[in-house]
Amino acid sequence: MAGETVDSVEMLRRLVAFDTTSRNSNLALIEYVQGYLKGHGVDSKLVPNEDGSKANLFATVGPKVAGGVVLSGHTDVVPVDGQPWVTDPWTLTLKDGKYHGRGTCDMKAFSAIGLAMLPEFLKAKLKKPVHFALSYDEEVGCFGAHSLAARMAAEVPKPRAVIIGEPTMMTVVHAHKGTQIYITKFTGFEAHSSMTHLGVSAIHFAAEFVHYLNQVQEELEAAAPKNSEFMPAAATFNVGTIVGGTAGNILARECEVLWGYRELPTQPIEELGERAQKWLKEYLLPKMKAKHPAATIETVLRSSTPAFSAEGNDEAKALAARWSGSNTAGSVVYATEAGIFRKTLGVPTVVCGPGDIAQAHQPNEFILASQIEACEGFMRRMIEWASQD
Ligand SMILES: [Zn+2]
Repeated sequence: MAGETVDSVEMLRRLVAFDTTSRNSNLALIEYVQGYLKGHGVDSKLVPNEDGSKANLFATVGPKVAGGVVLSGHTDVVPVDGQPWVTDPWTLTLKDGKYHGRGTCDMKAFSAIGLAMLPEFLKAKLKKPVHFALSYDEEVGCFGAHSLAARMAAEVPKPRAVIIGEPTMMTVVHAHKGTQIYITKFTGFEAHSSMTHLGVSAIHFAAEFVHYLNQVQEELEAAAPKNSEFMPAAATFNVGTIVGGTAGNILARECEVLWGYRELPTQPIEELGERAQKWLKEYLLPKMKAKHPAATIETVLRSSTPAFSAEGNDEAKALAARWSGSNTAGSVVYATEAGIFRKTLGVPTVVCGPGDIAQAHQPNEFILASQIEACEGFMRRMIEWASQD
């Protein structure tokens, strides 16, 4: 096969050049990867979203047998809007040993390195397969990973381990918190702001809800274990946006609150959300309706990313430790697709990838050149493992 050969940096430059901000289609990038794999004689499958504007991709290198390893990366990136970038975010730029560009660290580098090393995978005549898995919409709620993992569970012979290449500075991460995001819409009744007895302000009640979340937060913090591997040790709430009201002299009819929390793997992810909804229904709504019967409160779940518990990941931990040279396993508080793969494929999973999460989502995001080399070393040791019986 006359496939194209490029190094990791060149492949990263190509992937960064696709503006795959989550609101955009990722198809141009996916089609590029599909063509590149095809050039090397590797077939891939796409798992599109409902309207066909985005797709996941998976492909197997090596024999179609069980016992392989999945290398998983998301293709989308967070927006650059309003961020003070010094260089063009879509042009990979080397300065002082750092490659700048949106997605360099979170997380196109891991995928780029794996793809660039494809000729080495093929030359090694793998005895155990390596599966590439590329998803869409991770940054807006891990939407793509659910259908990707489900398709792989149905079509890929059961792998031995899943590596999620989110930035960990090539250390091994075996647990993280889960996140649950909701939108709650408060509908009140408009009245002149001097006539507060005639209406009900959606904003005032939304604020009471935010206060409730703060109180639960304090309660959780007070009850949190002193020696936790998570920092912060308790679940954490965040109200991301509040939108409502039309004028200074009108009781607001509508107010929408985007809120959510990050929960420990030891707790059921839905619990805090159910508790909050019970409070809204049994305490706040009656209070609102007493002011005006037209008042309503509606809550919808926007996204749910399961936590990733340390249990059952030993085999992936041992392999990733061997390939990365990192012999401690830790936990992080940001969510990844690890919980989804772990649950859907039922396979030991770890997070281990190049770059530092501190640079993720930042203006002037970068990855150290030395991290690219470290990840190449990881891949080479993995190839060595996969080419043995
Ligand atoms: Zn990421």
